[in-house]
Amino acid sequence: MNQELPERLIDESMRRVDGRKPDELRPIKIEVGVLSNADGSAYIEQGRNKILAAVYGPKEVHPRHLSLPDRALLRCRYHMAPFSVEERKSPAPSRREIELSKVIREALEPAIFLERYPRTAIDIFIEILQADGGTRCAGITVASLALADAGIPMRDLVVACAAGKVDGTIVLDLNDVEDKLGEADLPVAVMPSLNAVTLLQMDGLLTLEEFEQAINLAIDGCKRIYKLQKEALKAKYLAIKEEVEE
Ligand code: ADP
Repeated sequence: MNQELPERLIDESMRRVDGRKPDELRPIKIEVGVLSNADGSAYIEQGRNKILAAVYGPKEVHPRHLSLPDRALLRCRYHMAPFSVEERKSPAPSRREIELSKVIREALEPAIFLERYPRTAIDIFIEILQADGGTRCAGITVASLALADAGIPMRDLVVACAAGKVDGTIVLDLNDVEDKLGEADLPVAVMPSLNAVTLLQMDGLLTLEEFEQAINLAIDGCKRIYKLQKEALKAKYLAIKEEVEE
């Protein structure tokens, strides 16, 4: 990375490297229904992250022996474009991408009524076009909107956000520099209206009090992003309604 690394991650006035306060999210822009050839799709910008999600299904399973007799098979591919990071990333799937694909699938799975579609498959593709920390969380947030856009029945939207510790302070929604130089990172995914957690990971060290503070901050961040998710879904249907009325 040729980006210059800062000496301090939080200054005297408690501002972070990108000017945010500790409990502030990065600016978020969400759009639903951006790809006409997928059954469902969505796009998110969260700070410098740019992520596209596409969903196909429920559809026939190929190869057929993978199909499940009592529910749909949920498959997920998290992929970073070669140009998504400063140094070209190999397009071949890395161990990290294989692991994140599994982690994201497991975070989304509890939300979907898979039992309504036995012997079918639902495929989720997450393309990281530009990465700047917290892509698994933003990937979950945008993929759940692509699932909703595909008309797949869900118990709730899944929304994710990380909190962590940098320069001894608990902060929300870490960017790449904070993730790399910070002391801890705690990605959390929730279904807010069901009060359920579907992903909880932790990298680094926190005391029990810090952990409680960080998880509460992450859940609060999730709730704020949940509002933006719902607004983005509504905006898509309002646009369709206006088109039909014209
Ligand atoms: P997350 O994106 O969910 O925080 P990680 O903690 O594994 O996942 O990665 C943190 C950040 O590190 C990513 O968002 C990205 O900005 C950066 N990163 C990941 N993989 C690479 C890579 N191969 N080359 C350069 N930067 C990378």
